[in-house]
This record gives sequence, C-alpha cells and structure tokens, in this order.
Amino acid sequence: MCIYRTGSPLIQPGRVGPCTAIVGGGHFFLVDCGPASFRVIRFLGLPVGRLSGIIFTHYHSDHIGDLGEIMTFSWIGGNSKLAVYGPKGVREVVNGFNEAYSLDKGYRIAHHGADILPPENHGYVIHVIPPVPEGRDNIILFRDNTSTFTIKGFEVNHYPVKPAYGYRFEFNGRAVVVSGDTCKCDSLIKNAFKCDLLIQEAICCEVIGKMAKVFKSRGHPNTKRQAKFLDDILDYHTPVQDGFDVAAAADVKEMVFSHLVPTPQNMLLENIFFLYSRKPTSWKGTATIGADGMIFTVRENHTIQMVSSALVKRPNPYRLAGQIGTVLAGFLYYIARSNPNAKNVSIFAGAAALLTWFRSQPDFVSRM
Ligand SMILES: [Zn+2]
Ligand SMILES: [Zn+2]
Repeated sequence: MCIYRTGSPLIQPGRVGPCTAIVGGGHFFLVDCGPASFRVIRFLGLPVGRLSGIIFTHYHSDHIGDLGEIMTFSWIGGNSKLAVYGPKGVREVVNGFNEAYSLDKGYRIAHHGADILPPENHGYVIHVIPPVPEGRDNIILFRDNTSTFTIKGFEVNHYPVKPAYGYRFEFNGRAVVVSGDTCKCDSLIKNAFKCDLLIQEAICCEVIGKMAKVFKSRGHPNTKRQAKFLDDILDYHTPVQDGFDVAAAADVKEMVFSHLVPTPQNMLLENIFFLYSRKPTSWKGTATIGADGMIFTVRENHTIQMVSSALVKRPNPYRLAGQIGTVLAGFLYYIARSNPNAKNVSIFAGAAALLTWFRSQPDFVSRM
C-alpha cells in the first residue's frame, strides 16, 4: 500500500492543492484533487489512465480544482468514465465540470478521432456517499472482495461545511486514514484507531493568530479583510497540538501533517509548525511535515518506509548555512593559520558547519 501526498490550501511555490493518492490491491484512488495537483501526479509518473476513482472529502475550491484535468487525461490515457465518490453535493460539482469541459471534448474527438478517444468514455460515474447510518462509525463506499481492499467514509467536523468526510483505506490488515478538513473530533479518533499512517490536516494557530494581529494593526481595509479571513479559519481546522492528541488517542503508528496552514516556505518554517506543540509522551509514533511528492509504503509487516521525501528540493536553510559556514571556516583557517587561537576557532567552526551540512541532506525532512 503506497501513499503519495501533496498539498496545501494556500499558494506557495512547490506546494499544490490537497491531493492524496492511495495505491494498493491493484487500485489507485485519489482523495481530493486541489488546484495544480494534476501536475504533481504527472511529474510522479502516476498512471492517470488507470485511475480507479476520485474521492472528495468536501467541496471547498482547494479540494476540487483539478477534477476536469484529471478526468480529461484519464480519458486520454485510455480509461473509461471516471468514478467520482463524494458526500451530498458531488452531483452538482461533477455536472458543472462536465459542462465546462464539453467544448474541449468536442475539439479532441474532432482532432484525434472517436476511435482513439471514444466519446462514451469521457466524463464521470457519480457515486453519492450516503450519510453514515445512526449508531455506526462509518460507511463502506468501496470494497474489492478478491483483494480485501476496502474504503470506509466517516463524517468529520468542518462546520459550517457539511457534510465533510474523512476516509479509511484498509488492505490486508493495513490501514491508512486521510482526515480530510476537520477539527479534532471523536469520529476521526475512532476511525483512525490503530491505523498505520494518518494523513492529518493541520493549522498552526499561533502563527495565524500573530499574522491576523499584524494585519489588523495596519488598519487598511484590505489588511482588515485579510485578518478577518485568518481569524475565521482558526475554528474549522486541526491545531497541531490537537493533531498530536488525535494520533495519541487513536494510537496511530505514524502521522503526516498535510494541508498546512500557513504554508511553510522552507524547512526552518516547517519546524515552526512544531514549535508551539508537545508530542504526547504516551505516543511513540513519528510525525512528519508533509511535502508534495512525499511517498510512503506500508508493508505487510506494518513497517512504514518513506520512499521519497519530496518531488522538488525545498529550500533548506540548514544546508545553505552549512555550506557557507564550511567555506568561511576554511578561509579563516587560511588567513589565521599562524595564530593558534584563531586556528582552533576555525577548526571548531569548520567541524560544526560540516556537521550541519552533513545533517541537512536534500532528503532531510522535518520530523518530531
Ligand atoms: Zn481545505
Ligand atoms: Zn475545507
């Protein structure tokens, strides 16, 4: 079972809209397809022409933006109509995309021919996920009995967005859970229980709160408007500390923070995400700050391996500091080699800079 994850709702070079790919048991599903996520899917070389379906958590624009592109390239790749699963509202979203892409469909058939692009394969097969029945924790939306691959949906709290879902993927005793957009809630804890990997959305309230304060203090109508949006988003996402508490309460093996608000630009800022929270002592798992193109494999014996840390190298301030420090220390050693004190300082500084450089390999990831 493999996971490829991308995503963040805010615009930042190197980070596209939320989209998590789950591959296992001969199936390939996407959870959400935020703006520009299709590009990452293509760069990773994922077989869009063999996509089993897209599953929506809810219909905020940052989760649905690339539906049309993915359907089009699934069709071009030889797939038949694309299966789209989602709670109430999926029909409206899909019909809108269908209409928007109807001209494109005509152009392509006229240009390449209906034999290679059958018109009947263009578009979607809509699966509306019904509400979770009273007294149940989740609802099964997909099951493949031959490979024991199962997808369960559960309601989460992203109020006023309702319904909003999270998903649990199970395959031969392994489980991966995608939280969707949500606050900390009981159904997430129940459904994430003892899963191997939890893809957990996260907001750093302390940083967003400080940003809102600065915007407010500027007093301009535009910055006040920005501050209002920042204040509003605080109450329907999961603060980092709550994310840790969910992981501990559900006893998950590993957690990846995704849908990062605000979007960290580099690894130094990624670490600020962890600055205001404490990992519960009762939880023995690992939390990783997600990056576009990060790939995990959950093996049969439940070992989890990070196969790829990112699609593109992110600016790594530690690496740059190590490189500059090593050069400067070398220079200092050269000009002050007759002075024993300066010589010792330069050797010490050089060793520290080299160590920083060594520690900050390109695949160094922010973990706790
Ligand atoms: Zn979102
Ligand atoms: Zn949302």
